[in-house]
Amino acid sequence: MPEGDTIFRAARTLHRALAGRVVTRFESVFPQLTRVDVDAPLAGRVVELIESRGKHLLIWFSGGLVLRTHMRMSGSWHIYRPGERWQRPRHEMRIAIETADFVAIGFSVPVAEFATGESLTRTAAVANLGPDPLSNRFDAAEAVRRIRAREDIEIGDALLDQSAIAGIGNVYKSEVLFLGGVNPFTRTRDLSSEAISELVSIATRLMRANTADGTTAAIATYAGLRRTTGRADPSARLWVYGRAAKPCRRCGTPISRAKQGSHARSTYWCERCQPGREQR
Ligand SMILES: [Zn+2]
Repeated sequence: MPEGDTIFRAARTLHRALAGRVVTRFESVFPQLTRVDVDAPLAGRVVELIESRGKHLLIWFSGGLVLRTHMRMSGSWHIYRPGERWQRPRHEMRIAIETADFVAIGFSVPVAEFATGESLTRTAAVANLGPDPLSNRFDAAEAVRRIRAREDIEIGDALLDQSAIAGIGNVYKSEVLFLGGVNPFTRTRDLSSEAISELVSIATRLMRANTADGTTAAIATYAGLRRTTGRADPSARLWVYGRAAKPCRRCGTPISRAKQGSHARSTYWCERCQPGREQR
């Protein structure tokens, strides 16, 4: 599932290709998007800004129209030159935005809607977002405050709450807790402000490192174990996520995995490096 850093990089790439360009053609399989396009055509509008907010991707067009998409598990945006062969099948296309020089294709996008700047402030999923570590306006103290306010839930769940801190997904959740030495099943109220502040600062560091200009790594929290082949094996790039029963890279203890929270998301942790409350 794309996390905040993935969406941030997608937005930046789309912005560089499309911003300032005039839309020459718009196509979508979503009736609610097509309806807006018929009433107030996208063709002729200028793409003004493409940005991420948490895991939402916003494309702002002239005339005050904004297209909000959310990728959930499998959606993605691609950029092509006109006529270039797509890397995914045509039937997966959900949205196409064409300009003279570039074509942006949204594949398997599950959530898409047009809004105005004003209606966006009333869209709960966006309006209620917590501070975003990838935003210039990131307020770390507010993120800590919002996480602490969710005192009855476990920290592994609190970090996924987009209204507490935006952009963290299941991979970062496990990696951040490992690096902070915090057991995922610890109730938030049992953690000090300092401990939560440290988790927020680790998350910010990791997400920013993965969005540094020129970064191609999808995620890289673990810098050791370089392969002699020179290939960056994704399985060698994480501390705990996806490594159930494999030895902890720090202490050798087999990594644990359990479902956590109301959405039963997988959580990975080392019982020795992250001691504390046992899972229920
Ligand atoms: Zn360990």
